[in-house]
Amino acid sequence: MSNIFEIDLAQNSANHQPLTPLTFLAWAEQVYAERTAVIHGDQRFSWAEFGARCRRLASALKGRGIGPGDAVSVMSPNTPPMLEAHYGVPMTGAVLNALNYRLDAETIAFILNHGEAKVLLTDKEFSPVITDALDQLGRDIIVIDIDDPLGDGGELLGEKDYEAFLAEGDPAFPITSPTDEWQAICLNYTSGTTGNPKGVVYHHRGAFLNAMGGVTVSALSHRTVYLWTLPMFHCNGWCYTWAVTAAGGTHVCLRQVDPALIFPMIEVHGVTHMCGAPIVLNMMVHAPDEQKVDFPQVVEVFTGGAAPPSAIISSMERMGFHVTHLYGLTETYGPSTYCAWQDEWDSLDLDGRSAKMARQGVRYPTLTDQTIMGPETMTEVPADGETIGELMIRSNTAMKGYLKNPAATAVAFAGGWFHTGDLGVLHPDKYVEIKDRSKDIIISGGENISSLEIEETLYKHPDVMEAAVVARPNEKWGETPCAFVTLKSDAGDGDAAAIIQFCKDNMAHFKVPHTVVFGNLPKTSTGKIQKFVLRAQAEEL
Ligand code: ADP
Repeated sequence: MSNIFEIDLAQNSANHQPLTPLTFLAWAEQVYAERTAVIHGDQRFSWAEFGARCRRLASALKGRGIGPGDAVSVMSPNTPPMLEAHYGVPMTGAVLNALNYRLDAETIAFILNHGEAKVLLTDKEFSPVITDALDQLGRDIIVIDIDDPLGDGGELLGEKDYEAFLAEGDPAFPITSPTDEWQAICLNYTSGTTGNPKGVVYHHRGAFLNAMGGVTVSALSHRTVYLWTLPMFHCNGWCYTWAVTAAGGTHVCLRQVDPALIFPMIEVHGVTHMCGAPIVLNMMVHAPDEQKVDFPQVVEVFTGGAAPPSAIISSMERMGFHVTHLYGLTETYGPSTYCAWQDEWDSLDLDGRSAKMARQGVRYPTLTDQTIMGPETMTEVPADGETIGELMIRSNTAMKGYLKNPAATAVAFAGGWFHTGDLGVLHPDKYVEIKDRSKDIIISGGENISSLEIEETLYKHPDVMEAAVVARPNEKWGETPCAFVTLKSDAGDGDAAAIIQFCKDNMAHFKVPHTVVFGNLPKTSTGKIQKFVLRAQAEEL
């Protein structure tokens, strides 16, 4: 039988347009032309001005022959040019490759070569590492300098300055959508703790959808004042580079994550929203009292990228922030999962609320499916809060795949689901809780021990500033938990026996660390603790 709803009802340009975040810019420019789009130090751009700058960038790039199939790399902290690149580059049909500015020259050269970047926009501050990377590149690339008035030091390397480059462009360059929403929009590299970094390719459709997910989950509006405490290079600022624009809010740029700048900016600009890894929250909690400026509004903070200990969530809430926990990966355009608030939790005390919030939670409304499955059986684990499996996702907000790496893409998408590589449990309310990355779980006497759970306890100790737990080989048990701890500055030298006793008093005995080592913790370029380094140290102990 024929389906009457399919007859003579075809897609056409009136009823079917490619989804792309570029349309958010055209919208904000038109609806909020005179409202402030971007604040950077003393600079202010209205949406009309910001739109014209993005159009100029696109036009200048096109003038240099940039278009579909080309990559444009940007090495910059959170500045207006970095934000403009999120529009100006894809407006030409090209792909934006935002570089992690904490990487070394060798890795940057690898990325520029692997992504075949044709243009590099680079902030003066990073001229030493970029000079070195360009030497290693061994081929021509158009280099444009970002000479930010708020930048500190460095040299001009390129053929011209970004503002002069914009002047080459047409402020009326049209904002056109790609012909196909599956077209690539961004190329973001994972940190590559196991070999060379992988290039994750995003499409316009996924970027549109995850940005809309961000608007909903964080309730953004034209009254939103968003402070850029999260690097824009990290999954395109978890898609807030587009989400804030979709709401017509204001982007407040910030070159450097420093509580001495953040607190006053919250007060002066009336910041309503910000994002950051738990380490950023930790810095804010432990900032000296004289840096902590009071502000009248409740600031919505979104944290993820690593598990936020509940002790940090409670401390932030005490300072006037409301914390929402997000989870995601580069491969899922940043956040895919959030700990959706339930009204019943209102009646819990602060610690009870923080414990709920420490779970990773449920899928973004724009994410199709997420669950915890046995990675071999591909069947869902029981929702008992105990059975461990791998978090799997399928969604329009999963990457296109890894650039020039079909083998890794096939492994990641095996069985029709995206394998996150994270192990977790499903609670009876179907909230997901991550226990570990699959390679970080500790297996002691045949029992799985979650390193995150031990860290959660350690962070409750009043002297502990940071903690990471890894497996240490042990003849009898196979592995035992080994804790690496950074103490607060006023906490003295550290007493391992006292820390171990604190764990015994607060968790099941088989999970208690056998070893405690005090000192600073090694971090990745995205601020995550490098557990592989600690594992190697633990083996040597
Ligand atoms: P990289 O792989 O370079 O570290 P990603 O941002 O892609 O960068 O890292 C994603 C990983 O970070 C996830 O697979 C997970 O292990 C961890 N992660 C992200 N958010 C959370 C969270 N809320 N809780 C626990 N782990 C998290």
